[in-house]
Amino acid sequence: MKSPAYIGRFAPTPSGYLHFGSLVAALASYLDARAAGGQWLLRMEDLDPPREVPGAQTAILQTLENYGFEWDGEVVYQSQRHAAYDEVIQRLFNHGLAYACTCSRKQLEAYQGIYPGLCRNAGHEQKDAAIRLRAPELSYHFIDRVQGRYEQHLGREVGDFVIRRRDGLYAYQLAVVLDDAWQGVTDIVRGADLLDSTPRQLYLQELLGLPQPRYLHVPLIIQPDGHKLGKSYRSPPLHGQAATPLLLRALRALGQQPEPALAGASPQEVLTWAIAHWDAKAIPRTPTLAEADLH
Ligand code: GLU
Ligand code: ZN
Repeated sequence: MKSPAYIGRFAPTPSGYLHFGSLVAALASYLDARAAGGQWLLRMEDLDPPREVPGAQTAILQTLENYGFEWDGEVVYQSQRHAAYDEVIQRLFNHGLAYACTCSRKQLEAYQGIYPGLCRNAGHEQKDAAIRLRAPELSYHFIDRVQGRYEQHLGREVGDFVIRRRDGLYAYQLAVVLDDAWQGVTDIVRGADLLDSTPRQLYLQELLGLPQPRYLHVPLIIQPDGHKLGKSYRSPPLHGQAATPLLLRALRALGQQPEPALAGASPQEVLTWAIAHWDAKAIPRTPTLAEADLH
């Protein structure tokens, strides 16, 4: 089977509604895929039910539709992929590449997020333990299409990282790598908040013999009050009625120059114009200040 030259995706987490920052990421991945004649897949990253906002999944799909996005195929749900994640975890565990960690949050408090390796050679059982992947004492780098070269030393800057949590939930880092490969994704376009996750994902790809996609990390959106729009901050949800003006704002945040006449266009017409005029090289590298308060 001939594999398509470009498969992109948008992978929202239903821990909240879509906000302007996620719209910018969705728009960039959509335009980049469609301008290349590629597919655009949608994946719901519903790995963490306790943190899920009720109704967010439906609202996200509805908002994307209202904004004129059309995805290819069925939506993939990570909650349906547990068997695949578990199979890989067992493989890594059995090869000694991953190990069980029983450290409490309190025990790790002093180490500023870099795991000190306390359980590395403890030989704990998996039950009631987190599973950590051994971080190699190596630097991983890649060339981002917007951000340029990005490099991280996994051993020193990240440490052994969790691939399955103590409560049994699968970690984003593992799931994203397995699913992008499983769905044949060639191009990852997403927010720059995930730039420092990428070297961990490169390591997992290498370890599992999976192809490395191309990466493009779009700048974060900063609100006039200085807050970054993103997961960690309760960002205001997008409204359906304002689709055209918000798409135009998102285009400008991506360095595109939509024609003034588009102000009266439908969301679909804005997207059609934007695909035809997409210029990924115009995307700014640094955080973009939102044009107005989005509250
Ligand atoms: N689910 C992640 C998020 O909402 C995005 C994952 C990705 O694009 O790699 O931040
Ligand atoms: Zn431990």
